[in-house]
Amino acid sequence: MHRFLRRALLGALSGLLASPILSLTVGRDTGPVPALLLAVVVAGALALPRRPAGRPRPELLMEVAALGVPLWALVDVVAVPLLAGDPPRWTAAAMRDAFPALAGWMLFQAAVGLLLHLADDLVTRWIAPEFVPVPPPRPRAQRIVILGGGFAGVSSAEHLEHRFGASAEVELTLVSETNAMLFTPMLAEVAASSLEAAHITSPLRTGLKRTEVVRGRVVGVDLDRKIVSVQMAVGEQRQLAYDQVVFALGAVSNYLGMAGVERHAFDFKSIADAIAIRNHVIDCFERADGEQDPVERRRLVTFVVAGGGFAGAELAGGLNDFTRGMLAFYPNVPRDELQVLLVHGGERILNELSEPLALHAQQRMTERGVTFRLKTRLKDATADRVVLSDGEVATRTVVWTAGTAPNPLLRALGVEVDKRGAVLTDATMRVKGRTDEWALGDAASIPNAATGKTCPPTAQFAIREAAQLARNLQATVRGGALRPFRFAPLGALCVVGHHTACAEIKGLRFSGLLAWVMWRGIYLSKLPSLERKVRVVVDWTIELFFPRDIVQTIELAPRTGSNR
Ligand SMILES: Cc1cc2nc3c(=O)[nH]c(=O)nc-3n(C[C@H](O)[C@H](O)[C@H](O)COP(=O)(O)OP(=O)(O)OC[C@H]3O[C@@H](n4cnc5c(N)ncnc54)[C@H](O)[C@@H]3O)c2cc1C
Repeated sequence: MHRFLRRALLGALSGLLASPILSLTVGRDTGPVPALLLAVVVAGALALPRRPAGRPRPELLMEVAALGVPLWALVDVVAVPLLAGDPPRWTAAAMRDAFPALAGWMLFQAAVGLLLHLADDLVTRWIAPEFVPVPPPRPRAQRIVILGGGFAGVSSAEHLEHRFGASAEVELTLVSETNAMLFTPMLAEVAASSLEAAHITSPLRTGLKRTEVVRGRVVGVDLDRKIVSVQMAVGEQRQLAYDQVVFALGAVSNYLGMAGVERHAFDFKSIADAIAIRNHVIDCFERADGEQDPVERRRLVTFVVAGGGFAGAELAGGLNDFTRGMLAFYPNVPRDELQVLLVHGGERILNELSEPLALHAQQRMTERGVTFRLKTRLKDATADRVVLSDGEVATRTVVWTAGTAPNPLLRALGVEVDKRGAVLTDATMRVKGRTDEWALGDAASIPNAATGKTCPPTAQFAIREAAQLARNLQATVRGGALRPFRFAPLGALCVVGHHTACAEIKGLRFSGLLAWVMWRGIYLSKLPSLERKVRVVVDWTIELFFPRDIVQTIELAPRTGSNR
């Protein structure tokens, strides 16, 4: 039977079995028959995508359960009132009334997830096992070395672990300069003090079961001798021999040759960057509160973000909420002196979204207090000002999100790179002209067989590329055919302030509270590990009732001309 049809039928059956849960909640308003139909359709659709490999079952269940949040918002908060002729109500009282339905949706989703996994196991083990040719045993395990512990590297290792199981055919090694994977979509929330920094990073050693994790910095790769040189955190360099190597080294900030910006701007790529920004912002308020000179005080509470892409817009929106909330604790800082300024070279922010949605996001951010300087470029920065293409702004804070480039180490490999410096691969993610080298994520330039375009540098793509790369590596080790990478992007989500987000998913556009709920539900489901999900939910819950934390968590080094 066609795989899609089989999955849809299994999904519909799971929905039918789990439908009593939904009948008790959604069914209260709609009656049992619509609730049953809804259960069957939702579960059928949920079953269509292939289950992600290599992830523990509780985590996958939590992921499916988290999707209950956007479904609840769509059905109970929006669709059911609309069908009854009433507008959706976003008040606290309405949310309280709809809370049992939220619990119902999450329980229903968890039940469907459990049933689907049981059905998947049953089918793949006993009814229609996937045919994977197993060649005669090799004399020695193939050494697969993955360089980079971000979305691309960690997902590749997870998929490889799942594909090879306990088989001795391969030895897996992952080299990373950090010992945890960072979930970048929530980085702005750390800088804006909504989330604890550690809660959006997940330790590599707990997530990976049979991969050797080497914490160190890759300093060179000899492609002829097939050796990776790693500078260990402590001590000497280590040489790692490989049979297959995967380049997943990500990207770095690119200051486009502006030395002043590189020296004085904050980066916004790592967890350390987010912590440094948060601490610096609090420090600026502390200093501004005791500052007698109004010019210096205004400079201290002027925060400039360069770059109006997702990272810049989310950071500006988050900092705006954070700093406006802080005014209550700093009585000597006048509200009208506070400014969060987004500088962007284009005519509108968020090029990744359609124009109406991006304009809506900009308007909502303006209403919340963010100031924009569009069609303007950052040209230079010093310790107390930024130079723009159309003037200067006095500030002690500038964050650079306006340019990135693939990891510079890649240029030194001697393989073909594109003009940004990303490793060119064929559609199977094999490095062009090579047989045992592979690349993916932000470090690679990969043609997408579904669109004919080059894959964009996003986590959404890196995770999908990793699944295909693992399949192709398995085929290489066992002697099967390689398949090209193909993926039709699902859409984009962006948070621009508290309770405010914009989303474009499969051509449908959402904004406001609904998009914000969807953002939280979807990204929560993507966050690795059940433990991290619980910690983030707790942080978000605390934020509902208490002001954001303004404790400085690091001792700031005395400034010598630099803001950092
Ligand atoms: C603030 C921000 C928000 C974002 N939001 C989204 C979003 O909402 N949705 C989305 O799809 N994408 C988002 N992205 C983009 C997304 O984070 C990247 O596309 C994704 O991380 C790429 O994965 P990667 O594994 O290729 O690179 P990375 O995740 O950057 O991983 C690279 C890894 O390599 C390690 N490394 C680098 N050099 C070395 C070395 N020499 N030796 C050893 N290890 C090394 C790094 O420490 C890192 O662990 C965002 C990015 C940022 C910065």
